[in-house]
Parts: sequence; C-alpha cells; structure tokens
Amino acid sequence: MEYVSVFEMLKIGVGPSSSHTLGPWRAAETFLNELRERQILERVQKVQVDLYGSLSLTGKGHATDLAAMLGLSGTDPEYIPIDSIATIINAINQDKKLHLAGECFIDFDLATQVVFNRRFLPFHANGITFTAEGEGMETYASTFYSIGGGFIVKEKTEEDKPSQVEKVHFPYEFNSSKELLAHCQREDKKISEIIFEDEKVLREEAKIHSELLRVWHTMQECAYIGCHTEGILPGGLNVRRRAYDIHKKLLGEIPAYEGLDAWLAAIRNKKVEFREILKWVTCFSLAVNEVNASLGRVVTAPTNGSAGVIPAVLLYYLAIDNHQAGDKEIEQFLLTAGIIGSLFKKGATISAAMGGCQAEIGVSSAMAAAGLCELWGGTPEQVMIAAEIAMEHHLGLTCDPIGGLVQIPCIERNAMGAVKAINAAELALETDPKNAKVPLDKVIQTMWQTAQDMNTKYKETSEAGLAVAVSVADC
Ligand code: SF4
Repeated sequence: MEYVSVFEMLKIGVGPSSSHTLGPWRAAETFLNELRERQILERVQKVQVDLYGSLSLTGKGHATDLAAMLGLSGTDPEYIPIDSIATIINAINQDKKLHLAGECFIDFDLATQVVFNRRFLPFHANGITFTAEGEGMETYASTFYSIGGGFIVKEKTEEDKPSQVEKVHFPYEFNSSKELLAHCQREDKKISEIIFEDEKVLREEAKIHSELLRVWHTMQECAYIGCHTEGILPGGLNVRRRAYDIHKKLLGEIPAYEGLDAWLAAIRNKKVEFREILKWVTCFSLAVNEVNASLGRVVTAPTNGSAGVIPAVLLYYLAIDNHQAGDKEIEQFLLTAGIIGSLFKKGATISAAMGGCQAEIGVSSAMAAAGLCELWGGTPEQVMIAAEIAMEHHLGLTCDPIGGLVQIPCIERNAMGAVKAINAAELALETDPKNAKVPLDKVIQTMWQTAQDMNTKYKETSEAGLAVAVSVADC
C-alpha cells in the first residue's frame, strides 16, 4: 500500500504554482543535496537549468525560473520570508551572481542559464534538469519531474536498487475509497478518525494537532491578506485584485479590527442571505488565489492553482455556517479533505500538465465537499458521494491559463470549485447511498481516462483555449 499523508497533500509553500514553482524549487534543493552527498558542492562554478515540456511552455508565467534560482540559493519555500524573495531575485539579476546553497557565490545569468526547451521528455510533461560544472569535477547532471502538488520524482533506471526502506505498516491500509469505506464501516468510525490513526504512525499525536492547525493558520492568513490587499496583480495581464473590494462591501462600516480572530468575529456578526453567502465564498477564494498569483505564501490544496477552494469552504463553515466551530472541526475537515485528495493522487493525477484543470480545481472541490459533508454529519458513504459529485461535474475541465499566468481563468475558477463543493456536500446529504450509481473510485478512474484522452494543448501549455483566444497584449 502507498500511503500519501494528509500533510503531503496540504503543503505550505509559495505561489503561484505547485507543479511549476514549488516542485522545481524542491528539485533544486534536492539537486544541492546530491552535490553535497558527492562532496562536489564547493567545486561547482556553473549551474545550468533546463526546463522541458509544460515547465518550459508556461514556466515564465508560473515563475519556474525564479523558483529554480531560489532553490539553488538554498532557501526553503515553506519558511522563506516572502519579503525576501524579490531581494534575492533582484540581487541575482543585478550582480549576475547566485549564492549557491547559501554557501558560495557563482556566476549566474538568468537569460542564458535557464533554458526553456519546448520539447517534452518521455517520462512526464514537467521535466527539469540541473547541470553543474566546475574545476576538478566531472560534469554532474540530474533530471527531476514535477508531478503535481509540489511532489517531485526521478525516473527509475534499471540500475536503481529496490528500496531498502522497511515497509511501514498502517492500522488501516487502503488503496481505494471502497477499502477506506470498509474500514469506516467495520470500526464504526468517521473517515477523519480512521485517518488520524494512520497519521499517528508518521508523527506524534500532539504534532498532528499542531501541524493541522499550522496549515489552517497559513490558509486563513492567506485569505486575510488577500481580503486586505488592493491593486493590480503582477505579470502584465493587468488583473485587478477583486477580493479587497468585495470584502469591503460585505463588511460595510464596522469598527476597526486586527488579527485573524477579530476578523472572523467581524464576519460572524454580519447578517447573510443566499447572495451574501455566495459573495463571501467567492471573496475568500479570490483572496487566496490573488495572494498565490503574487508569489505569496499559500497551502497547496492539492495544488497552488486550486489553493483557494478548501480555505473558502472551511471559512464559510466557520464564519457563516457554524459559529460554535473551532479547532476540532478544522482538524476533522482537513483530515477528511486531505485523504480524499490522496485517493485522486494515487488513482489518477493532481497535475494539470497530465490531466488539465479537472486535476486541480476538480480535485480540490472533491476534497472540500468531502470535508464539509463530514462536518455536516454525513456518513462515510455520503462523504464519498459528496467527493464523487464534486468531481463528476468537473470532468474534462481543461487548463488554458492566459499568458501562462495563474490568474485567468484560475482565480475565478476557485470560486466556482468552492461553490460546487458546498452544493455537492448538500446534495450528498440528501442522497441515500443505496441509490448512488457512481462510486468515487469510478469517477477517479474516469478522470484518469479523460486525462489520458485530453489533447496536450489543454494541459497547462497555454497553446489552446482561452490562452489562445485572448491576447495578452489586449489585457
Ligand atoms: S487553469 Fe486550472 S489547472 Fe490550469 S493553471 Fe489555472 S487553476 Fe491550474
């Protein structure tokens, strides 16, 4: 059994893209470790970065080149102060020097040392090769593949030895939603309770609680920043941030407040009807994705492009639907949502370069629908139905970002995914599992089949759809 932890599905990082920013950043860090292991890091005088396939075609707009430089500089996307990013990039561009691993300066010219090769490597659509040269060392090159959600892999060769790592045993092993459901039914437990037991194999109980809340705090802070920041997003499309204005209108004239708790309390005090609920959910998701588009700190959920759906639905639950809810409900939601995402990762893909936007917004919507359904008292079967419904109505969704930027259609698409998630959870609660016709595993299979049939032009290449219909120059 392959267990993908909830914390691998919900990773703290930097925008705008998990596959095109976070993955390459992590690949650069891993490359540095390989140089260290070979004891050649201090000999390196030159590094070249080659981007392939989708990383090359939309890498400019997705800041892949910048992520590679930040990774090579030895920074960690989870902890780097956001304000320092521009300083590091500007220094490299001005001085043409890169502080390799934060240890020694080497010559580095972005214009010639990050190469956008348009061709695809056979193993995966997102390839990145780092090549290091220096005196007294053989040229060392290493290729990584960014497979979505910030995950990176290397292609296995015949010489690779089988893993010596001892197999980890989990109390509840499963590879499909059917098997997970069987555990829930046999133990008479919720999905989140089953997953909590599995996560305990990987970390201490107290750590699970604190890390889940750290993930949530990052999500909430991201929404808060987005709701309180106005202006134009970077990248040249001249996209105006909208969360600021929507948020201001929704809150109206209220006494000044500061901090996340006071913000939540201010929203809870507002009277809401159907249209206001729609606007709040929209506002939360736009806010997160506007922060993502401006290289801010976000949580991949399961990707950066779709980072707004889960925070928007959970904020809706906390700020509007259930004012008594707190840490317990937050953890329950994230555990359930996270493990549903892992089923998609294992059974299909969470990479837009492999499956289009159904793999990003579709999966995030399914995750959020599942989390909300459990909080609303849905049985494990109904939770699976909620995830299935949310994905069913995203099947075939293509990825065609204008100008290769994670802005149009991405930002609005998060609002749509969040609203669909709430609707799917509601519909699942009204469904008798005996009458459900499409099991979650079947929709995961269908999504993967659809991904394989989808024309490459619609898989994060900006070679079709809106990316072709709308000219950046007109924006
Ligand atoms: S269109 Fe969807 S999959 Fe493509 S970059 Fe935007 S959010 Fe990601």
